[in-house]
Amino acid sequence: MKPLQFGETVVSRVVEAEGPSFYPGFLLPDSSDDAIDAEADWLEPNFFDRTSGRLVMSVHSYLIRTPHHTILVDTCVGNDKNRPSTKPWHRQQTPWLDHLATAGVQPGDIDFVLCTHLHVDHVGWNTQLVDGRWVPTFPNAKYLFQKDEYAFWQKEQSGAGRSGANDGCFEDSVLPVMAAGQALLVESDHAIDDTLHLDPSPGHSPGHVCLNLSGGGRNAVFSGDLMHHPVQCAYPEWNSGFCYDPDQSRATRMGFVDRHADTDTIILAAHFAAPTAGRIVSGGARCRFAV
Ligand SMILES: [Zn+2]
Repeated sequence: MKPLQFGETVVSRVVEAEGPSFYPGFLLPDSSDDAIDAEADWLEPNFFDRTSGRLVMSVHSYLIRTPHHTILVDTCVGNDKNRPSTKPWHRQQTPWLDHLATAGVQPGDIDFVLCTHLHVDHVGWNTQLVDGRWVPTFPNAKYLFQKDEYAFWQKEQSGAGRSGANDGCFEDSVLPVMAAGQALLVESDHAIDDTLHLDPSPGHSPGHVCLNLSGGGRNAVFSGDLMHHPVQCAYPEWNSGFCYDPDQSRATRMGFVDRHADTDTIILAAHFAAPTAGRIVSGGARCRFAV
C-alpha cells in the first residue's frame, strides 16, 4: 500500500506477514466454493490464490502521522510470544520493527497505540521481551483499550472460561502495559483529536471499535476485524469462525457495508492483503471491494 494522504495526515502500512493463508471454509464457515467463484473476477489474484485454494491475507499495523501525533493501529502478533494454539505464531520472529523503521518511525516516536480489540494478532507488539520480561515496546505511548473489551478479557483471565482467541496475550501483551501506567481505558466514541475518533463495532469481540479519520476533505475508517477478508463486502452475512457474538457481528458488518457502499470512504481493514486500501462499491448483484 502506498502511503495515503488525508490533508496533512499520512497513513502507511507496517506489514508483519502476508500471503496465501486460511482456506475459505476455515476462516468463513458460511462460505461456499461456488460463492467465492462467483466473485473471482475481482478477488483474484490479490485476495484469492487459485493455485492453493487459499485466501490471501495480511497481518499488519497502520501508522497514522498527523501534524501533532504519531499513532499506531493494531500491533500484530509480535516476536517471542508463546502461542501454542497457532503454530506459525508460536515464538515467531519477524522484522516488523525494521519495517516500522523503514516507514521512518522509531518506537519512541509513537504517541498513541490503538488496539481495535484485544485478540492475539492485534496486541503482540504492544510489548517485547527484554531480559526475560515483557515490557512496553513504545515507551512514550499511551495505549488505548476499549473499556468493555478490557473488562471482558480481564474476566476471562480470572478463570471464568479461557478463550482460544486469547492464547495468553492478555498476560504478556496487555497487563504489562497496564502495570507500566501506559494504558487508557476509553469509551467506544473516544476522540484522539478533531480528526480521529472511535466508533463502536461490537460482535467480533465484545468491545471492538473502528477508528475514523478525516482530513483534506477525505475520510478513512480503520475497521479492524469487522471484516477479515474483502469477500465479506459481497457477503457481509458471513461471520468469521472467531466471532464472539455471531448475530451481533453479522448485524454490525451488514450495517457497515450498507453505510459505506458507494461512498468515498477508504476502508483500511486489519487483514486485507495488498493493495489493502479500497472502497465498497455496488453495481452487480453484490457489493465488491474496489482498490
Ligand atoms: Zn485479526
